[in-house]
Amino acid sequence: MTGSRIVGRLMVGSVLTLAAGAVLLGDHSWNGYHWARSSNPFTLTVVDSVTSEWDAYLNEAIADWTASSVLDLTRVAGKTGSRDRYLCSSIRGRVRVCNYPYGDTGWLGIARIWVNGVHITKAITAVNDTYFSTATYNTAPWRRLVMCQEVGHDFGLDHQDEIFDNVNLGSCMDYTSDPDGPPSNEHPNLHDYEQLETIYAHTDGKSATANGSAAGGSAPSAADEDDFVDPPAQWGRLVRSIAGGRVQVYERDLGGPNRVVTRVVWVQ
Ligand SMILES: [Zn+2]
Ligand SMILES: [Zn+2]
Repeated sequence: MTGSRIVGRLMVGSVLTLAAGAVLLGDHSWNGYHWARSSNPFTLTVVDSVTSEWDAYLNEAIADWTASSVLDLTRVAGKTGSRDRYLCSSIRGRVRVCNYPYGDTGWLGIARIWVNGVHITKAITAVNDTYFSTATYNTAPWRRLVMCQEVGHDFGLDHQDEIFDNVNLGSCMDYTSDPDGPPSNEHPNLHDYEQLETIYAHTDGKSATANGSAAGGSAPSAADEDDFVDPPAQWGRLVRSIAGGRVQVYERDLGGPNRVVTRVVWVQ
């Protein structure tokens, strides 16, 4: 743990106390989805399969979310070959993040989680460089917002607000047409950290789904992987559509309590 991390945590803790007493805060847990773990803070490994244009933004998102008192994200280098990034195969117990020019698919970013009941077993985030190479989205604020938000979904956060054109809440979990505001929606806010503390207030005994102990880039078995790229027709049924269809959630049943849940944000 670095010195700045400790300071960050202390600040988060003390300001949260004030904020909780001052305003009534809404709930933005994503259906109670969470990684199973036996204690906090738990470590979640983020497999970095992004190219250099995205590294700074992924690193920022990792640092921002690691400031949470319940969660430590650890980055490991993943494969970054063109096909590796295109497939963005999921890896059990981990979050994998990829970028690729996926084409004129309509989607800007995706967060996908595999769940067993409410427990997340693996997750991916993919960002579509076809749009991030256009003038509208090729900006630091848009890259920061989308990376922070899509990674935030991967451990169970939902949006704080889903109206694009109202005043920013100062959270990357708030939709906006103006990421840098002010206030800026490029980073988590105190309410996001508080929501994480709520989601992860309980523990799950020994049945951890977060594989925090696996250091380095050791390859998982092929059986643990699922390729991300598939046509929307295979994402399953549409279970939620808001903001005029710009934000949608799809679910595909895998049998028993197992499902794949895909969250997508479409371009304007
Ligand atoms: Zn649990
Ligand atoms: Zn989102």
